[in-house]
Amino acid sequence: MMKGCSDRLEMVRSYLVDETYRDALLVQSELLKGLRETLDAKGFVEILPVILSPITDPLNHEVFDASVEYYGQNYAVTKSMILHKQISVLVHEKIYSVSPNVRLETADKADSGRHLFEFVQLDMEVAGASRDEIMDVMEDAIIYAIRNVLSKYPWVKEKYHPTLKVPAKPFKRITVKEAVEKYGEAFESGLSKDIDEPVWLIDIPLLNREFYDKQDPERPDVLLDFDLIYPEGFGEGISGGEREHEYEQIIRRMKLKGTSPEEYTDYLELAKQGVLKPSAGCGIGIERFTRYVMGLEHVRQTRLFAKVPGESAL
Ligand code: AMP
Ligand code: MG
Repeated sequence: MMKGCSDRLEMVRSYLVDETYRDALLVQSELLKGLRETLDAKGFVEILPVILSPITDPLNHEVFDASVEYYGQNYAVTKSMILHKQISVLVHEKIYSVSPNVRLETADKADSGRHLFEFVQLDMEVAGASRDEIMDVMEDAIIYAIRNVLSKYPWVKEKYHPTLKVPAKPFKRITVKEAVEKYGEAFESGLSKDIDEPVWLIDIPLLNREFYDKQDPERPDVLLDFDLIYPEGFGEGISGGEREHEYEQIIRRMKLKGTSPEEYTDYLELAKQGVLKPSAGCGIGIERFTRYVMGLEHVRQTRLFAKVPGESAL
């Protein structure tokens, strides 16, 4: 049910009286700074986000369409910069963008605690990198960012999240196969509730992801892919992996997923001409990272003007 005007004004009033918002913004700003500083120190170049494009991430789940027509060209609002990242690493080897994404999620996601229909991810990509290299960079970034927050704002622990720890490197890993054996079909939430430090969930089954995630050449039923699962039930915070770049393989994977190649003509032409190169990368959702560090109920508490699925936003 769509909320009305009075709810929207109530939201603004709550910014003024509920200090959670003020505190979350301080924490979020520091987390973002920590992520950026880590990547900058490793030689990454920050590129500007793309908001409208003829191509965007097809996603692995249904969302409502968000696109506009402009002089006869259809432009989608960015769902993720994945395809643009694959092209950007041809210009600079290591790139990231603080990228606003619009995914018009269905209203049943309102109470997941993890979904907004507009959110921001720090989306990074490295030419020629392996999955392990990306996970290693992100472990450094997360550890550095959380350590900085706790040293600058020690009240985060006492006031909001007493069990928060700076995670130790390397983070543990579990394959989806192992996770299903241990936790059943709801393995992601089972795993998340069972751990007290972030854990990498790896070897995602082929059909659970899109055409751009690289199939493991030695085990074709899984991808060279990963999610980071936050502890204490906070769930998924990062997705990433190695990428497909070869035309034939991309087409084969599109067919498997039922994605129509006609919607990706320019991208496919680049692949066909051999312009795309191997890369790997990932995206970390900023609102979800803030929610986890602050130990909050819902990502709506981590930003101003939060857009909750199914609700009317300011
Ligand atoms: P994905 O590649 O689709 O997993 O998106 C990358 C990251 O963005 C996820 O791991 C989340 O941290 C974040 N994210 C994805 N969808 C949403 C959403 N609807 N609301 C908030 N954050 C999201
Ligand atoms: Mg994901």
